[in-house]
Amino acid sequence: MSAHDPACLFCRIVAGEIPATVVSRDADVLVIRDVNPQAPEHLLVMPTVHYSDVAQFVGFAPPDLVAKLFSVAGQVGREQSASGFRLVVNTGPDGGQTVGHLHIHVLAGRPMAWPPG
Ligand code: AMP
Ligand code: ZN
Repeated sequence: MSAHDPACLFCRIVAGEIPATVVSRDADVLVIRDVNPQAPEHLLVMPTVHYSDVAQFVGFAPPDLVAKLFSVAGQVGREQSASGFRLVVNTGPDGGQTVGHLHIHVLAGRPMAWPPG
């Protein structure tokens, strides 16, 4: 793990090198709007430091940061919809992960189907 991977899209967004619609940020966590929304509200919650996926994150990140990321995702979800929302962490090729910088999808604004496909 390196703090900033110059080849990583989301590291470059964190660094301000690529534009994004920023919803909130602090030193630890960045929240942006997904460029290709799959629901009326679709946000991405990510650590500002590079972790490639959730397995690497929970294995190596400080526990306070793991807790904070999940806490921010839950708070953002509640802010988006009082009637419910969905958190998704795609992991690896079979999990549908396309950007190798851990992020939690926050989807809200419509009823969600199950199974997700
Ligand atoms: P995943 O497929 O779970 O790795 O999620 C990656 C997400 O990043 C997808 O939902 C993409 O639509 C989104 N995405 C890709 N490029 C950008 C970008 N430049 N700004 C915001 N979201 C992006
Ligand atoms: Zn990264």
